[in-house]
Amino acid sequence: MEKDSEFIKNENVPGPTKEEIRCLVVCKSKVSKNDDVVDIGCGTGGITVEMAKRAKNLIAIDKSPKAIETTLKNLKKFKLEDKVKLIENDALNALKNINSIDIAIIGGSGNDLEEIIETIDKKINKNGRIIVTAILLETKVQAISKLKKLGYTTEFIEVNIAKGQNIQRGTIIFGQNPIAIITAVK
Ligand code: SAH
Repeated sequence: MEKDSEFIKNENVPGPTKEEIRCLVVCKSKVSKNDDVVDIGCGTGGITVEMAKRAKNLIAIDKSPKAIETTLKNLKKFKLEDKVKLIENDALNALKNINSIDIAIIGGSGNDLEEIIETIDKKINKNGRIIVTAILLETKVQAISKLKKLGYTTEFIEVNIAKGQNIQRGTIIFGQNPIAIITAVK
């Protein structure tokens, strides 16, 4: 797992998803060399980089040109650009041209979360997994309700990571925002 500080950042682009959360997403997704992965809302490329290392192929989508640019920089840094197709577009438009999905990660969706989940559901392969990372309460509720309605078995975890930082007198502990990871399989 790459350290947060290893990623090239842009002040207008959120991410990377914190290292410990990336660990959980990778682990819950059960990603393997046979999987076609879609990362929706790739931001800085934190999740894109980790999933690309472990998957067969990855398509990363973001509506923000700055996010696509930043993700590309990170893919080059980690020598993963050959494995990843980047699409600068709104998730719903980008998904129209994607047909094989084993794992979909949704890290950004604006107001389209339910429709994005519905679209993925129509395209997802047998034994596919959908993972939503959510900070907003509303996103958590929407994701879990929609996935259940579509017949998925869902798992909800929420984690509060606190991380130690060395100072002269010892280790000071900083708390990070709680974040939910919702995993769905059909
Ligand atoms: N997982 C990323 C951070 C994601 S931040 C990382 O580890 O670096 C969320 C991203 O979702 C933002 O860059 C935002 O532009 C994008 N986003 C939000 N709604 C979107 C939509 N409807 N279609 C495409 N991208 C979207």
